[in-house]
Amino acid sequence: MYRSRAVPKFFIKTYGCQMNERDSEQVAHSLIARGYERVDSEVEADVVLLNTCSVRDMAEQKALGKMGMLSRISKNRPETVFGFLGCMAQARGAELLKEIPHLDLVVGTQKFHRVADYVDDLVLYKGAVAGISDPSYRRMDDPRYSIVDVEEEAGSQSTIREQALAPRQATAFVSIMQGCNMHCTFCIVPRTRGAERSRTIAEVVSEVRALVTHGVKEVTLLGQIVNLYGRHEFPWVSARVPQNADLSTQNVCATRKSPFVQLLEAVSAIDGLERLRFTSPHPIGFRDDLIDAISYLPKLAQHVHLPLQSGSNRILKAMHRAYTVEKYTQLVDKIRAARPGIALTTDIIVGFPGETDSDYKATRNLVEHLHFDNAFVFRYSARRETPAATMPDQIDAATKEERNQDLLEIINAATRRANEKVVGTRVEVLCEGPSKTNAARLMGRTSANKVVVFEAARDRVGEIFDVAIARANGFSLYGHPVD
Ligand code: SF4
Repeated sequence: MYRSRAVPKFFIKTYGCQMNERDSEQVAHSLIARGYERVDSEVEADVVLLNTCSVRDMAEQKALGKMGMLSRISKNRPETVFGFLGCMAQARGAELLKEIPHLDLVVGTQKFHRVADYVDDLVLYKGAVAGISDPSYRRMDDPRYSIVDVEEEAGSQSTIREQALAPRQATAFVSIMQGCNMHCTFCIVPRTRGAERSRTIAEVVSEVRALVTHGVKEVTLLGQIVNLYGRHEFPWVSARVPQNADLSTQNVCATRKSPFVQLLEAVSAIDGLERLRFTSPHPIGFRDDLIDAISYLPKLAQHVHLPLQSGSNRILKAMHRAYTVEKYTQLVDKIRAARPGIALTTDIIVGFPGETDSDYKATRNLVEHLHFDNAFVFRYSARRETPAATMPDQIDAATKEERNQDLLEIINAATRRANEKVVGTRVEVLCEGPSKTNAARLMGRTSANKVVVFEAARDRVGEIFDVAIARANGFSLYGHPVD
């Protein structure tokens, strides 16, 4: 007689961006709905899922290294199910099964909604082989049963719509579109996430309403090129300012409104939602209607993340980023004029193929000139089957590292200066939960996306209140709540 399984436990680890985090929450929700229990460690889990990233080589190596180490668990508990999900799974598909003998499941970016079915199937199969569950699930014809699903699926953009919310969860991500048609020459995303597909405004509004009912106060709308939301599906409309607009700061220039701005207005109008963010926009398509919306929609956060990638027009062209340094600078000026004091952050790649000292210097000068509040600096890493991977004049690792360190110094100094300006003032904070570095304290974020650490009672998680800022370092602000 076989033993019956207790409630199966799953562990999911996410590599990469916020979109991957959002996808993982969808998978977690679907497994919990089937009766699985989420655990915080792979050691306790019957199902171990790694949701992978492909954007940089380092992220792939980390996920592969982690899965390799999990073979120990597989030896002691052969019934454990192991799966790779997400971007690297999409890019590499079945070849991963050959590289990692204990791997059972490979699911790409358009199939997250199928993961629970596949996991159920594999749990029963591996349980049967190990003598734990019904032996009829043993497939004698397939001694090493595994599942790979990296097919495209029409409508998959609308399948990321539920998530496993924690009690008092104050913030949430909402995926509004999938894919990207921009084909930047360094980027693997168009291959791993497919072509642009957007959800409808009604679907997104209904998801945000449900989150707000649960107590969520801030949502971040996610898309690879979020401001180009709906460009293939939905029409522009004539620009009329919505009734809930902040008319004191309104400065409407655009005559028509893009689908993205229509979506921002619809989500902004939801009662109980306090803050609205979006990431990541592309400088292309960041038009006047969106700049207007930044000025008249008060719920829009005091922060825009605007990827620059390079401060050299020659490199921007080679990257297939269809804007110039001059256009980007004008855009920054317009955003800052629309919402004085708005925080701006960016992404920059150093060491792109062919980047000369003078190209790098142009980036360095532009970064110094634009005074970003923060920036993510990446050393270029070749991604297979992208045009940049085979470009001539690849930059050596030492030069990339030198440029990386140099730029980080400039950015860290700018971040410190921006944070020091806040010392001695009161800022409004949405309290998110325990601080990551000291669980005895709480942390929250300002509308400008600055992390604030303070001491307060646990029941303040999920509330918005003022904090008097006493000190700052390069990463965070420290203070105490004031009534
Ligand atoms: S805009 Fe460029 S960098 Fe961003 S996801 Fe699309 S191809 Fe990649």
